[in-house]
Amino acid sequence: MSEPTRNPAQLTDISMLGLGAMGSALATALLDAGRSVTVWNRTPGRAAELESRGAHVAGSVREAVAASPVVVACLLKYASVRDTLGPVVERLCGRTLVNVTTTTPDESRQLAAWAAEFGITYLDGAVMAVPTMIGTREGQIFYSGSRKAYDAVLPMLDIWATSEFHGEDAGRASLVDLAMLSGMYQMFAGFLHGAAMVATTGMSASEFAARQAPFLSAMTRGLAAYAEVVDGGDYTVPGQQSLDFSDLSHLVRASADQGVDPTPIAAVQELIGRQIAAGHGPEGLARIYESLRAPRPTTRAATRPEEGTAA
Ligand code: NDP
Repeated sequence: MSEPTRNPAQLTDISMLGLGAMGSALATALLDAGRSVTVWNRTPGRAAELESRGAHVAGSVREAVAASPVVVACLLKYASVRDTLGPVVERLCGRTLVNVTTTTPDESRQLAAWAAEFGITYLDGAVMAVPTMIGTREGQIFYSGSRKAYDAVLPMLDIWATSEFHGEDAGRASLVDLAMLSGMYQMFAGFLHGAAMVATTGMSASEFAARQAPFLSAMTRGLAAYAEVVDGGDYTVPGQQSLDFSDLSHLVRASADQGVDPTPIAAVQELIGRQIAAGHGPEGLARIYESLRAPRPTTRAATRPEEGTAA
């Protein structure tokens, strides 16, 4: 599949809308790789560095969109994308839109439906990287939406990071992205809760981090085993840490005894307690997944009452 080519009226290969920290990093990587790039930002004056590297600076969104066959949006959020692109939709018609703005899965699907209505080829991107990782293989960007567009622009996407296609449901890349961030933020909250606990006896957060980081790193080796149990659906397989053994009420109590708000760990204990109360205490800790997951439509009739209920 060949890359979208510009017609004689178009100035550049790619137009980048949004020159915040991430948009600037993406544009810089493209310029460094020898691509011709038009850039635009709502607030003028953020393009000087990119211009010195050879970028064409557009004076309006309309001009930017018209300049290239591929338009990349890296704006703040869903509303920014709609506000920016809505007025120039007729200019976008026939072009490929790669939207790497963080959106929820449903927002991505709405953008894909909107794009389809106006003859715009839509690819949604979820950036799993900070700006300094752009242009390296360490960064990851997930994509979903038009497979045709993904194949066509892959050489460009690969300039930014390691690219991964997640299917034609435009919301899937965002879903995986936000699920990954959910794990990350809960880990950070857990660390900060622990730091608040040890602070009551004078340990600094830095001293605690030096101990917590290698411990958490070692614990991540357990993720694959939990995943195997969840995928297999049998929480009685021998060798699992049981829910009864995992009762964390002493941890919640210790936190409260120190005057530290136990909210993060109390949320985990609540999930464990719910499964124990339903009679699953001897089964594996991974069973808390059953309190969290969405109902499975095909097996719903066969599930027990406490199963398949979102927390
Ligand atoms: P910044 O806050 O640095 O930049 C935001 C950009 O959005 C600016 O160009 C800003 O323009 C523009 N913008 C905001 N509102 C509007 C609007 N209503 N109309 C037009 N333009 C608007 O954010 P980042 O560049 O860091 O992030 C951009 C996207 O990338 C976000 O969705 C973010 O979640 C995602 N991302 C960022 C990561 C990071 O580490 N930075 C990591 C992963 C994803 P102006 O200058 O005029 O305000």
